[in-house]
Amino acid sequence: MSIASQIHNILSTLPEGVRLIAVTKTLSAETIIEAYEAGLRSFAENRPQELAQKIMQLPSDTEWHFIGHLQTNKVKMVVGKAQLIHSVDSERLLKEIEKEAAKQGITAHCLLQVHIAQEEAKFGFLPDELCKFLHSGILTIVPHIKIAGLMGMASLTENPEQVRREFHSLKQLFNQIKNTYFSSDNNFRELSMGMSGDYPIAIEEGATLVRIGTTIFGHR
Ligand SMILES: *Cc1c(COP(=O)(O)O)cnc(C)c1O
Repeated sequence: MSIASQIHNILSTLPEGVRLIAVTKTLSAETIIEAYEAGLRSFAENRPQELAQKIMQLPSDTEWHFIGHLQTNKVKMVVGKAQLIHSVDSERLLKEIEKEAAKQGITAHCLLQVHIAQEEAKFGFLPDELCKFLHSGILTIVPHIKIAGLMGMASLTENPEQVRREFHSLKQLFNQIKNTYFSSDNNFRELSMGMSGDYPIAIEEGATLVRIGTTIFGHR
């Protein structure tokens, strides 16, 4: 199936309030243009260098998201370029983003990444750790950052019930954090969860942003 028809298929299944972000890592600009011509404007990359390149290669009315592990020495390449950084996974990184955003005189919109999967390898705060982190008053010392919500990746498993439990727990954590720390802050409203293999479950469990690559573009 063509890229355009895959996009239209996915869009036709998204409930109101859920946005599709096309994950374009490793793809050529020509391929991404096909998605652009099908009407998509939101794209995501997981490497700073690739993000910088693709921003230059695509029309300027595109919106870019950063979804990969971000090293503090690469923050400059992402802040001010990505509309939303989904993958803030440490205090050190948050502070580095603050520094760069202050320098540029902008506000950086970020999601806090939570480790919900069983695999060891995935990045992110543990739920308890995240609550402690927010409780420490961190938000008062990052005035150039708006925390727009949470991001998480479920385990790579054939067991849909496990995936559902993980997404469900992330949504519960989202509600808890929203009520405790962001009750009067409308910026905190995004829940980025769901990829090609599991986005229908993520949507049922409350995702507002789904990050989809393979289903749109085929295997990389
Ligand atoms: C690659 C990637 C995706 C998209 O994965 P697909 O299975 O190709 O849809 C989503 N989120 C993150 C963080 C990724 O690295």
